Parts: sequence; C-alpha cells; structure tokens
Amino acid sequence: MDAVRPSPPAGDPSWCDAATSGLGVYVHVPFCSHRCGYCDFAAFSDLDSLMEAYVDRVVRELRARVHEPAASVFVGGGTPSRLGADLLGQLLAAVPVADGAEVTVEMNPESASPEVIEAAVGAGANRLSFGVQSVTPAVLTFLERRHDDADVVAAVEHARAAGNDNINLDLIYGVPGESEQDWARTLDFTLALEPEHLSCYALTVEAATPLGRAVAAGEACAPDDDTAAQRLAETCERLAGAGYERYEVSNWARTRPCVHNLRYWSGGAYAGCGNGAHSYSPSTRTRTWNHRHPRTYVDSDDPVAGREELTAEQMRDETIMLGLRRSAGIVWPDPSTVPAGLVDNGLATYTGGRLALTDAGLAVGGAVTLEVVLAAAETAGKAVSRW
Ligand code: SF4
Repeated sequence: MDAVRPSPPAGDPSWCDAATSGLGVYVHVPFCSHRCGYCDFAAFSDLDSLMEAYVDRVVRELRARVHEPAASVFVGGGTPSRLGADLLGQLLAAVPVADGAEVTVEMNPESASPEVIEAAVGAGANRLSFGVQSVTPAVLTFLERRHDDADVVAAVEHARAAGNDNINLDLIYGVPGESEQDWARTLDFTLALEPEHLSCYALTVEAATPLGRAVAAGEACAPDDDTAAQRLAETCERLAGAGYERYEVSNWARTRPCVHNLRYWSGGAYAGCGNGAHSYSPSTRTRTWNHRHPRTYVDSDDPVAGREELTAEQMRDETIMLGLRRSAGIVWPDPSTVPAGLVDNGLATYTGGRLALTDAGLAVGGAVTLEVVLAAAETAGKAVSRW
C-alpha cells in the first residue's frame, strides 16, 4: 500500500487538517513477553493463552464499531508483533482501510521476525514502529527491555527487505545512570539506520508501577528533570542537523508525520478497539473507554466500560492543550488576544492566524499552555468557532 501522500513539511498545518478527516482506528494488543517496571500501559505478560480469543473478540468489535474505511490505523500495545504472523495478519485483515491510509504496527525488536513483518506488510501495514529505547546495555537493563542493538538492526533490515519505507524508532532519554555519551551513542546508532520518523520520550515515573513504588521507597533513583531537559536540547539540535523536523513535543519526521497520532492532537475522530482502548467522537463530544483487563474485555458482551460527554469548554481547553503540542500550533483568530509576552519572550510565534509554541515554549509547556487556555476562556464570549 502506498504511503499517505508526498511531503509538505511535517509541521505543515495541512497535516493537522488531514488528520481530522474521516475516522481513525486504534487496535490495542496487550501481550508482552515481560512487564517492564516503568510501564503504565494496559499490557500483560501472563496472558498469552488468551491470544486467539482476544483476536476473535477484537475482530467482532471492529465489525460492530467500524462502519467506514479507516482514514488511519494504528495497531499498538503491548507488543503487537508478539501475536505472531497468523494472528497479526487476521487482525489487520479485519480492519476496513481507505485507499492510501496510513497503517502503523508497533513491534518490539526481539519479536519482529521476518515472518511477522512480512505478514504485517502483506496485510496492509505501511508504517512500522520499533521500540528501541536505547543502545546502552545498562539503560536497557534499567528499563527491563530484552533486546539488544543487533535485534534492532535486524528488525529494520527485515522491514526494508519487506518493502517498508516508513519506519519509526521509539527512544527514551533521561534514564538514571545514562550519560551524555550514552545518549549521543543512541542517537548516532539510530540515525545511521535512517528511519523516516523518530519518537523521543523522557522517562516518566508513574506511581502505580513497580518503578514508581521503588522510587517512592528510595530503592531506585528518579529521573533528573535538569538532565532530561539537557538531553532534550541535545536531541533537538542533533535531529534538526540530521534533517528531522520536530512537529510535536516528542516527535520528529524527515517528511511524513504520523497521521494517526496527529489525529489525537488535532481533535479528529477515532474508534479504539481492544482492552483499555479509548474512542472519541467530536461530533457528539463523546469519549468512551473499554474494559482494561483483557479477560474482562474478551468475556464482555459490551466492551465499553465507561463514557463521558464533554462540555464545549472542555473541548476548547483540550483542543488548545493538545494542539499546542504540535509545531503547527492552533488557530487563534484574534491577534489582539494573544497572551501578552509569549511572542516577545520567544515562547511562541503568531503567524497566519496560528499560535504555536517555539522549542523554548515547549520546554516550559505546562505554564505557557495554561496561559493560553486562560486567555481563550476570557475571549470565549467572542465569535470564535475553531481554535
Ligand atoms: S514492552 Fe512496552 S508495553 Fe510491554 S510491558 Fe514493556 S513498556 Fe509496557
């Protein structure tokens, strides 16, 4: 299947518009070989015996829920590649896909065999995302990841051999004990593989994880905020020099952004299938979420565990908070209401009726975003229909 379309710059606002058309479909695959200590996702390492029943239930949910060809598809997890070639192929075949739509499948390097990759590509996947995280053995040990750099090289080679031309590599920086040289080596290694896209996340510690509990008990170090900020600055400089455009806080692309993820940041509609998956309909202002445990999900007649209806104010605030993550920023119709000082202090730009944060603004994201949210609330009485 062809890629979505040729390339305007990754931060071009037209990508955001494209990401809000039609319906995106997210499919969650909860199976992992090991539950990593920092992981906060709906992922499980002891439920492999449920795989067939799970895929069967997801296929039924897709049939009941998705009534139009998807404008973008994202199969994430968990570890979708752990399903193996047959089940992953069955899952992908059950998703109705529009011509030219982006179809992403996440994979971990150790389970991204040639058979799995060929099955995914053969069933329509045109974007593969590999969880690399780091090439420093001590960092991978801290994260409890079980692959090494040879697995990563092999996975990328298999993907290229299968004809894939849109690869993302996920990295994590700011892990305690990681040196500046370690991170530079990870970037060197990654760039040498020439991926089309990179996602670089700071390690965050969630309280309800084994790592969170270890940090709270003083048994593990927490990431250092200043070090993480320094790593991010190095990353921005290095990736810009290598021709990657930062189009979202944690995402860089040489040409094509991830259209499906732009959908989340741009207020587009999506249907989430699988345990713990969320769905969102902007036309009805409704968000729903599925049962979190795979067994409950498989056994349920109705996979939806909860729903909420958003107020117009909540939608406006979310649109701003998510939209300001993108380099394209948000539509801001009235220049006179741009919060004072943001542009003068180099934290934001205002061009062509759009307000966008600079790298400096993104670095202090929360405070600046709050200022914009408050300014929007103040001007809400004016004739504003779209941010
Ligand atoms: S491989 Fe990913 S999804 Fe699975 S437990 Fe580790 S961090 Fe979580």
